Amino acid sequence: MSVAMRPYQNLKAKLAGLWTSSANTQHGGTILAIAVAIAAGSIGIAEAAVNAQGLQPVVRGDVLARLIPDPPPLRPVTRERVVWEGADLDGDGQPDIANPTGHAPREVDAYGQGRFHASRDGGAREHEGVDYVATPGQTVEAPISGYVSKVGFAYPDDQTLRYVEIDNPALHLTARVLYVDPQVAVGDTVAIGHPIGLAHSLQRRYRGITDHVHLEIAEGGRKVDAETLIAQRTVTDQLAAE
Ligand SMILES: [Zn+2]
Repeated sequence: MSVAMRPYQNLKAKLAGLWTSSANTQHGGTILAIAVAIAAGSIGIAEAAVNAQGLQPVVRGDVLARLIPDPPPLRPVTRERVVWEGADLDGDGQPDIANPTGHAPREVDAYGQGRFHASRDGGAREHEGVDYVATPGQTVEAPISGYVSKVGFAYPDDQTLRYVEIDNPALHLTARVLYVDPQVAVGDTVAIGHPIGLAHSLQRRYRGITDHVHLEIAEGGRKVDAETLIAQRTVTDQLAAE
């Protein structure tokens, strides 16, 4: 029994008590009808217009049942989640850019932060991509459709950290994704959002850094801020009712 239903149970008990006492008096029917009308009116029910003469000295379960309203409607249970929406660059109604990990850009850590043009090497240069937080081993998805134009090493002195580059000549876009163990080869055609590899751990090279993939997008050969092309939106799902 929910808390919300208790007042109705109390009303039911009071009505039953009134009926028992009023049945023993000459004017019992009228007294009961008034009591019912007052009680029903207090909870705003049309049945308050009960006819005094119509009441019979029996247990009026049917009247009580009509006086007690249905319990309040079930409350929906919802959950909010973040989705990433890529820009539609060619106007076909479909996104042309995707978040490769599904996670937010890397915030400040001991090595800097992951936004476009963030300071690097003590201000000597700027970060030319956007770092998207990743869990090592997770699937990395193609940020654009196109063909694999390069697979290589992120650093000349490190044979473990690799990158995948995708070219889309129709859109004049190039996307390079660093710190990916490739599952594609040069020449492969890839569709936006499809797996291209697994995220590397960066802990051996940058101990304590927030693991991420580094995404560089070039439009017509010019580096652009991926965050201007990938927007964050919150959607609400209805899971069930409690
Ligand atoms: Zn980076």
